Amino acid sequence: MEKKRRVLLKLSGEALAGEKKTGFDEETVKEVARQVKISADSGVQVCIVIGGGNFWRGRSSNAIDRTKADQIGMLATVMNCIYVSEIFRSLGMDTEVFTPFAVGAMTKLFSKDEAVKCLEQGKVVFFAGGTGHPYFSTDTGIALRAVEMEADTILLAKAVDGIYDSDPKVNPKARKFDRISIQEVVEKQLAVIDLTASILCMENHMPLAVFGLNEQDAIAHAMNGEITGTIVTA
Ligand code: UDP
Repeated sequence: MEKKRRVLLKLSGEALAGEKKTGFDEETVKEVARQVKISADSGVQVCIVIGGGNFWRGRSSNAIDRTKADQIGMLATVMNCIYVSEIFRSLGMDTEVFTPFAVGAMTKLFSKDEAVKCLEQGKVVFFAGGTGHPYFSTDTGIALRAVEMEADTILLAKAVDGIYDSDPKVNPKARKFDRISIQEVVEKQLAVIDLTASILCMENHMPLAVFGLNEQDAIAHAMNGEITGTIVTA
Protein backbone atom coordinates (compact mmCIF):
# COMPACT_ATOMS: atom_id res chain seq x y z
CA MET A 1 0.00 0.00 0.00
CA GLU A 2 1.30 3.45 -0.91
CA LYS A 3 2.34 5.40 2.20
CA LYS A 4 0.18 8.48 2.64
CA ARG A 5 1.54 11.83 3.75
CA ARG A 6 0.92 12.26 7.47
CA VAL A 7 1.16 15.72 9.02
CA LEU A 8 0.65 17.19 12.46
CA LEU A 9 -0.79 20.70 12.37
CA LYS A 10 -0.43 22.96 15.40
CA LEU A 11 -2.89 25.77 15.87
CA SER A 12 -2.46 28.20 18.74
CA GLY A 13 -5.46 28.86 20.94
CA GLU A 14 -5.37 32.50 19.86
CA ALA A 15 -5.65 31.40 16.23
CA LEU A 16 -9.19 30.20 17.00
CA ALA A 17 -10.22 33.46 18.61
CA GLY A 18 -9.84 35.75 15.59
CA GLU A 19 -9.78 39.46 16.40
CA LYS A 20 -11.36 38.83 19.82
CA LYS A 21 -8.18 37.12 21.13
CA THR A 22 -10.28 35.06 23.55
CA GLY A 23 -12.86 32.28 23.20
CA PHE A 24 -13.87 31.09 19.73
CA ASP A 25 -14.48 32.88 16.47
CA GLU A 26 -16.66 30.61 14.35
CA GLU A 27 -15.80 32.13 10.98
CA THR A 28 -12.06 31.82 11.68
CA VAL A 29 -12.40 28.15 12.63
CA LYS A 30 -14.64 27.44 9.61
CA GLU A 31 -11.93 28.87 7.36
CA VAL A 32 -9.35 26.54 8.96
CA ALA A 33 -11.80 23.64 8.49
CA ARG A 34 -12.35 24.48 4.82
CA GLN A 35 -8.63 24.30 4.16
CA VAL A 36 -8.04 21.12 6.17
CA LYS A 37 -10.90 19.46 4.24
CA ILE A 38 -9.17 20.12 0.93
CA SER A 39 -6.11 18.21 2.16
CA ALA A 40 -8.01 15.47 3.96
CA ASP A 41 -10.14 14.89 0.83
CA SER A 42 -6.95 14.61 -1.24
CA GLY A 43 -5.74 11.78 1.04
CA VAL A 44 -3.40 13.58 3.47
CA GLN A 45 -3.59 12.05 6.96
CA VAL A 46 -4.22 14.96 9.32
CA CYS A 47 -3.41 15.15 13.04
CA ILE A 48 -4.17 18.37 14.91
CA VAL A 49 -2.90 19.80 18.19
CA ILE A 50 -4.36 23.01 19.58
CA GLY A 51 -3.03 25.26 22.34
CA GLY A 52 -5.19 26.76 25.07
CA GLY A 53 -4.07 30.38 25.19
CA ASN A 54 -7.52 31.69 24.16
CA PHE A 55 -8.72 30.52 27.59
CA TRP A 56 -5.88 29.96 30.01
CA ARG A 57 -2.18 29.31 30.38
CA GLY A 58 -0.34 27.68 33.28
CA ARG A 59 1.46 30.97 33.79
CA SER A 60 -1.83 32.95 33.84
CA SER A 61 -1.84 32.97 37.64
CA ASN A 62 0.83 33.29 40.32
CA ALA A 63 -1.75 32.85 43.05
CA ILE A 64 -2.50 29.16 42.54
CA ASP A 65 -0.39 26.02 42.48
CA ARG A 66 1.39 25.57 39.11
CA THR A 67 0.26 21.96 38.75
CA LYS A 68 -3.38 23.01 39.10
CA ALA A 69 -2.87 25.96 36.76
CA ASP A 70 -1.39 23.61 34.16
CA GLN A 71 -4.30 21.22 34.58
CA ILE A 72 -6.68 24.07 33.73
CA GLY A 73 -4.50 24.82 30.69
CA MET A 74 -4.68 21.21 29.53
CA LEU A 75 -8.46 21.21 29.94
CA ALA A 76 -8.60 24.42 27.88
CA THR A 77 -6.93 22.53 25.02
CA VAL A 78 -9.58 19.80 25.38
CA MET A 79 -12.38 22.36 25.04
CA ASN A 80 -10.65 23.78 21.97
CA CYS A 81 -10.31 20.40 20.30
CA ILE A 82 -13.93 19.44 20.96
CA TYR A 83 -15.09 22.75 19.47
CA VAL A 84 -12.87 22.59 16.39
CA SER A 85 -13.71 18.91 15.87
CA GLU A 86 -17.42 19.78 15.84
CA ILE A 87 -16.91 22.62 13.35
CA PHE A 88 -14.97 20.17 11.16
CA ARG A 89 -17.88 17.73 11.38
CA SER A 90 -20.32 20.47 10.38
CA LEU A 91 -18.33 20.78 7.16
CA GLY A 92 -18.55 17.03 6.49
CA MET A 93 -15.28 15.72 7.96
CA ASP A 94 -15.08 12.68 10.21
CA THR A 95 -13.07 13.30 13.40
CA GLU A 96 -11.84 11.76 16.66
CA VAL A 97 -10.51 13.57 19.75
CA PHE A 98 -7.88 11.76 21.83
CA THR A 99 -6.60 12.76 25.28
CA PRO A 100 -3.77 11.27 27.36
CA PHE A 101 -6.13 11.13 30.38
CA ALA A 102 -9.77 10.02 30.69
CA VAL A 103 -12.39 12.72 30.03
CA GLY A 104 -15.32 10.34 30.42
CA ALA A 105 -17.23 9.74 27.21
CA MET A 106 -16.18 13.11 25.77
CA THR A 107 -12.88 11.97 24.26
CA LYS A 108 -11.02 8.70 23.59
CA LEU A 109 -7.96 7.73 25.60
CA PHE A 110 -4.93 8.13 23.34
CA SER A 111 -3.36 5.05 21.86
CA LYS A 112 -1.13 5.08 18.79
CA ASP A 113 -2.86 2.00 17.36
CA GLU A 114 -6.31 3.58 17.69
CA ALA A 115 -5.14 6.90 16.27
CA VAL A 116 -3.50 5.18 13.27
CA LYS A 117 -6.73 3.24 12.67
CA CYS A 118 -8.70 6.50 12.61
CA LEU A 119 -6.25 8.09 10.16
CA GLU A 120 -6.51 5.06 7.89
CA GLN A 121 -10.29 5.45 7.96
CA GLY A 122 -9.84 9.01 6.72
CA LYS A 123 -10.67 10.69 10.03
CA VAL A 124 -8.97 13.88 11.18
CA VAL A 125 -7.55 13.15 14.64
CA PHE A 126 -7.14 15.70 17.42
CA PHE A 127 -4.61 15.26 20.21
CA ALA A 128 -6.01 17.28 23.11
CA GLY A 129 -4.67 17.67 26.64
CA GLY A 130 -1.01 18.07 25.66
CA THR A 131 1.26 15.46 27.24
CA GLY A 132 -1.12 15.09 30.17
CA HIS A 133 1.58 16.40 32.53
CA PRO A 134 2.11 19.78 34.18
CA TYR A 135 5.34 21.70 33.54
CA PHE A 136 5.14 20.67 29.88
CA SER A 137 3.70 22.68 27.03
CA THR A 138 1.53 22.16 24.00
CA ASP A 139 4.79 22.42 22.02
CA THR A 140 6.10 19.33 23.81
CA GLY A 141 2.78 17.61 23.17
CA ILE A 142 3.14 18.30 19.44
CA ALA A 143 6.71 17.00 19.27
CA LEU A 144 5.83 13.90 21.27
CA ARG A 145 2.76 13.00 19.23
CA ALA A 146 4.44 13.78 15.89
CA VAL A 147 7.33 11.45 16.74
CA GLU A 148 5.05 8.76 18.13
CA MET A 149 2.66 8.93 15.16
CA GLU A 150 5.61 8.87 12.72
CA ALA A 151 4.36 12.04 11.05
CA ASP A 152 6.27 13.31 8.01
CA THR A 153 6.39 16.81 9.44
CA ILE A 154 5.04 19.22 12.03
CA LEU A 155 3.25 22.24 10.55
CA LEU A 156 3.20 25.37 12.68
CA ALA A 157 0.62 27.93 11.61
CA LYS A 158 1.69 31.26 13.11
CA ALA A 159 0.72 34.92 13.05
CA VAL A 160 4.09 35.66 11.34
CA ASP A 161 4.83 34.07 7.96
CA GLY A 162 8.03 32.22 8.89
CA ILE A 163 11.15 32.34 11.05
CA TYR A 164 13.13 35.60 11.10
CA ASP A 165 16.56 36.42 12.52
CA SER A 166 14.89 39.12 14.64
CA ASP A 167 11.32 40.24 15.30
CA PRO A 168 9.94 41.65 12.00
CA LYS A 169 7.44 43.76 13.94
CA VAL A 170 10.30 45.53 15.72
CA ASN A 171 13.09 45.35 13.10
CA PRO A 172 12.04 46.23 9.51
CA LYS A 173 15.35 44.76 8.27
CA ALA A 174 14.66 41.36 9.86
CA ARG A 175 15.65 38.52 7.48
CA LYS A 176 13.41 35.53 6.87
CA PHE A 177 14.97 32.07 6.66
CA ASP A 178 13.73 29.79 3.85
CA ARG A 179 15.48 26.87 5.51
CA ILE A 180 17.20 26.46 8.86
CA SER A 181 18.27 23.50 11.03
CA ILE A 182 16.65 22.87 14.38
CA GLN A 183 20.16 23.02 15.86
CA GLU A 184 20.48 26.62 14.64
CA VAL A 185 16.99 27.47 15.91
CA VAL A 186 18.13 26.33 19.36
CA GLU A 187 21.56 28.02 19.19
CA LYS A 188 20.12 31.32 17.98
CA GLN A 189 17.25 31.07 20.49
CA LEU A 190 14.71 31.79 17.76
CA ALA A 191 11.80 30.65 19.94
CA VAL A 192 9.95 28.66 17.27
CA ILE A 193 8.97 25.94 19.72
CA ASP A 194 10.19 25.64 23.28
CA LEU A 195 13.51 24.02 24.14
CA THR A 196 12.13 20.70 25.40
CA ALA A 197 10.13 20.27 22.18
CA SER A 198 13.09 21.37 20.01
CA ILE A 199 15.37 18.76 21.57
CA LEU A 200 12.75 16.06 21.09
CA CYS A 201 12.48 16.99 17.39
CA MET A 202 16.27 17.10 17.03
CA GLU A 203 16.84 13.71 18.64
CA ASN A 204 14.11 12.07 16.59
CA HIS A 205 14.78 13.85 13.28
CA MET A 206 11.33 15.40 13.11
CA PRO A 207 11.25 18.33 10.66
CA LEU A 208 8.97 21.35 11.02
CA ALA A 209 7.52 23.96 8.73
CA VAL A 210 6.47 27.41 9.89
CA PHE A 211 4.05 29.48 7.82
CA GLY A 212 1.64 32.41 8.14
CA LEU A 213 -1.87 31.37 9.10
CA ASN A 214 -3.40 34.42 7.49
CA GLU A 215 -2.08 33.89 3.98
CA GLN A 216 -4.55 32.66 1.37
CA ASP A 217 -4.95 28.85 1.57
CA ALA A 218 -1.73 28.61 3.64
CA ILE A 219 -2.85 25.55 5.58
CA ALA A 220 -4.01 23.64 2.49
CA HIS A 221 -0.74 24.44 0.72
CA ALA A 222 1.43 23.49 3.70
CA MET A 223 -0.40 20.20 4.12
CA ASN A 224 0.48 19.32 0.54
CA GLY A 225 4.14 20.21 1.11
CA GLU A 226 4.10 23.67 -0.49
CA ILE A 227 5.81 25.78 2.17
CA THR A 228 6.15 29.50 1.58
CA GLY A 229 7.42 30.13 5.12
CA THR A 230 10.43 28.40 6.71
CA ILE A 231 11.42 24.74 6.67
CA VAL A 232 13.21 23.56 9.80
CA THR A 233 15.36 20.51 9.10
CA ALA A 234 16.18 17.96 11.75
N1 UDP B 1 -0.11 22.35 29.42
C1 UDP B 1 0.50 21.46 30.33
N2 UDP B 1 1.07 20.31 29.82
C2 UDP B 1 1.05 19.98 28.51
C3 UDP B 1 0.45 20.89 27.60
C4 UDP B 1 -0.13 22.06 28.09
O1 UDP B 1 0.54 21.71 31.51
O2 UDP B 1 1.58 18.92 28.13
C5 UDP B 1 -0.80 23.55 29.95
C6 UDP B 1 0.14 24.70 30.24
O3 UDP B 1 -0.32 25.32 31.41
C7 UDP B 1 -0.08 25.63 29.04
C8 UDP B 1 -1.56 25.44 28.78
O4 UDP B 1 -1.74 24.03 29.00
O5 UDP B 1 0.20 26.96 29.38
C9 UDP B 1 -2.09 25.84 27.44
O6 UDP B 1 -1.26 25.43 26.39
P1 UDP B 1 -0.68 26.50 25.34
O7 UDP B 1 0.15 25.78 24.38
O8 UDP B 1 -1.75 27.34 24.80
O9 UDP B 1 0.19 27.41 26.24
P2 UDP B 1 1.67 27.81 26.06
O10 UDP B 1 2.40 26.65 25.43
O11 UDP B 1 1.60 29.01 25.15
O12 UDP B 1 2.07 28.09 27.46
